[in-house]
Amino acid sequence: GLAITAHELTKDYGNGRGCRSITITVGEGEAFGFLGPNGAGKSTFVKMLVGLIRQTEGHGTICGHPIGSLEARRHFGYLPELYRYQEWLSGEEVLQLHARLCDVEASEAKRRIPELLDLVGLGLRGKDRVKMYSKGMQQRLGLACALVNDPPIVFLDEPASALDPLGRRDVRELLRLMKAQGKTIFLNSHLLEDVELLCDRVALLNNGQILQVGSVADVLHET
Ligand code: ADP
Ligand code: ADP
Repeated sequence: GLAITAHELTKDYGNGRGCRSITITVGEGEAFGFLGPNGAGKSTFVKMLVGLIRQTEGHGTICGHPIGSLEARRHFGYLPELYRYQEWLSGEEVLQLHARLCDVEASEAKRRIPELLDLVGLGLRGKDRVKMYSKGMQQRLGLACALVNDPPIVFLDEPASALDPLGRRDVRELLRLMKAQGKTIFLNSHLLEDVELLCDRVALLNNGQILQVGSVADVLHET
């Protein structure tokens, strides 16, 4: 089945910027890379898919549910670019908060949170305040947050780009793990290195428009 569809999805900010008539489909279990320079419209597109902003035109679905609907919300996790935490909370408390926001049952959250902290390499740091975390640790906590309700789909907006090489490697490994677990991954990036090993297909975006969709090899070959 299809995890994500977008049909002529358009966002017009009124200043000539945004996204223009984007049509794509992403299959279940697929890793899809949304590649383009800063300002291309990648964040805008993902914000429409996760229901944070409303499209000007077009429509889309998440697991068959219209984007922006509550039903759609239950099927994905989202890691925004430049995620900001309440820094006085511990990593564990941030996850507890997310679990509650996502309607995860308390007993389920209690079981999952230590597992998630282990998964992202924060098993020994869960009680520390987020303020004390490195950027890489914060991004890994963000990945854990995106997984807190065990969603089939994860949207990740530039998860690795602000990190140093080691941090980027950690994030890439986690994304590979998510893919191996069968998650559908929608990955925004301006770095080819982020998408080329992970993604089954990529869309090349510029100026709010898709230039090309295909395998990484196809897209590279034609540019
Ligand atoms: P990317 O994620 O690829 O860097 P964005 O989706 O953040 O691109 O931005 C696409 C374009 O839309 C940019 O030119 C940006 O300045 C503009 N833009 C983003 N948000 C707004 C907004 N709320 N109002 C007006 N213009 C915006
Ligand atoms: P992101 O890429 O995650 O959207 P940004 O730093 O690009 O983060 O944008 C921060 C906020 O400013 C967002 O709400 C975005 O929509 C808004 N924004 C970005 N570019 C513009 C712009 N040219 N005009 C107005 N608002 C903008």
